[in-house]
Amino acid sequence: CGIVAYTGPREAYPVILKGLKRLEYRGYDSAGVALLNSGLQVFKKKGKVAELEEALLGKNLHALTGIGHTRWATHGEPSDRNAHPHRSSNGKLAMVHNGIIENYALLKRELQNKGYHFESDTDTEVLLKFIEDIHGHHNGSLEEAVRIALKRIVGAYVIILIDEDNPDTLIAARKGSPLVIGIGKGEHFLASDASPIVEYTKEVVYINDYEIAIVKPDELILKNLGNEKVTPFITKLDMEL
Ligand code: GLU
Repeated sequence: CGIVAYTGPREAYPVILKGLKRLEYRGYDSAGVALLNSGLQVFKKKGKVAELEEALLGKNLHALTGIGHTRWATHGEPSDRNAHPHRSSNGKLAMVHNGIIENYALLKRELQNKGYHFESDTDTEVLLKFIEDIHGHHNGSLEEAVRIALKRIVGAYVIILIDEDNPDTLIAARKGSPLVIGIGKGEHFLASDASPIVEYTKEVVYINDYEIAIVKPDELILKNLGNEKVTPFITKLDMEL
């Protein structure tokens, strides 16, 4: 139900944790983070953000890129394994998702026939493994795989992917659910609404339906599903904490 992500020179985990707390008012049943340091680490748990925080005390959470999620279960009961982020079969990708993939059952059967296994009951894991499968069959970028996948998706979503092979790049997309990107100096903040962002920057871009964002610390590229670049429209937040 809430998404926060960061890429830049700061420690990602504290930014994400604080952001998830700011989104708690939306309601949720589980929380999780994926952090990219030398490898990808995923931590997720049924319950409150504070419980996740407590479980992570004392762990090495150093990372400059990360994604976080609070879940409001629609497909699969609230549980640790159904919590987000979900991971690809090869372990290199992690993804958070808000919304519903309506045609997930058919895609899941197709993927199972190809030998994919599922660790959760979520529609989200189906979309992630669908993207992974396309990525594996194309020589192209992850962004291209996301674009091809989304053309077959029916539903509403905000997704953000993190990729071990491109440690400072986040790929985000939306249709029907909101996504805001905060533009800092050499850093970017992504969230479901501006409340986790406003303390860091007042310059934001509201992503439109059917747009894909390729987000690096010092670069934000927006494209439509036709692979054409879209100029980001920067809005000034007039909101205080
Ligand atoms: N449909 C997804 C799930 O049930 C995402 C729910 C949400 O928006 O938090 O895991």
